[in-house]
Amino acid sequence: MSVSEGRFPKSLIEFQGRFATESECAEYLFERRWPEGFVCPGCGDGRAWLLKTKAFTYECAACGRQTSVTAGTIMHGSKLPLTTWFWAAFLMATHSNGISALQLQSQLGLGCYRTAWMLCAKLRRAMVNSEREPLSGVVEADETIIPFRAKEDPIVVPAGRSGVGKMLVAGAVEVDGGSPRRARLKVIEGFGKDEIHAFVLGAVAPNTRLVTDDWPSYNDIPDIKHKAITVGPMAAHIVLPWTHRLFSNLKRWGLGVYHGLRRTNLQHYLDEFVFRFNRRRTRHAAFNTLLGIAARTAPAPYHVLICKTA
Ligand SMILES: [Zn+2]
Repeated sequence: MSVSEGRFPKSLIEFQGRFATESECAEYLFERRWPEGFVCPGCGDGRAWLLKTKAFTYECAACGRQTSVTAGTIMHGSKLPLTTWFWAAFLMATHSNGISALQLQSQLGLGCYRTAWMLCAKLRRAMVNSEREPLSGVVEADETIIPFRAKEDPIVVPAGRSGVGKMLVAGAVEVDGGSPRRARLKVIEGFGKDEIHAFVLGAVAPNTRLVTDDWPSYNDIPDIKHKAITVGPMAAHIVLPWTHRLFSNLKRWGLGVYHGLRRTNLQHYLDEFVFRFNRRRTRHAAFNTLLGIAARTAPAPYHVLICKTA
């Protein structure tokens, strides 16, 4: 049985035993990245040898290109040991509420906050699987307004659906036999028809049965069976219980772990929340997923991580 097909580490002790050394981590990454054997990213050839002079680096026999096991992945060019990356991924994936950069810094004994912050920011980018299946069957959709925190600003609690100076979020939850399955969250610029249609069409499969309130932006989405329910001012949690619960958990999580979500990189925080929500019953497998996606996710240098629109 290969490393990546094996049982997921269920405890810290088991994790520590399995990923104690750099080469154990590198072997795992190799299998996640090249399950069928090495493929040169330059020419596609499969013949290569492991260099003795550079750590976990393969030289293509056809074109001579050297590729390390982390080259071109989210771990590209990192000075941190692989064991630190693995610990960070394990803690981020398995902790029920997630972990802030400050907590990670103290748990891993990292020298500076910026290093911990970079680790979290990079791993968060590996929390969306680009090949994920759209939601289908019965799906609730709704939108919400999230109070945001700027560095010096007080917490702003906006009212109404006007989008000026607020963070707007659209959400959808797949419902199966009365229970929630997977969710999606997306930062949107407004609650108009274009924004809402783009969100729904990006999140759900054709022929999905979409349940919403009577906000008109949900009307006439192509290939979607739409049921709009008129709600009174207090009844949204009865008509759309799962999106309502998703949004309230999101807000509580943002306050609890991050002391209020910020506008910068909000989509990546939403992605982290959804990653954890969708794997709430398989947290230890989530570690495998996170490192698997990390091995396929393009590098994100510091200037990209701090970019507001990134
Ligand atoms: Zn090559």
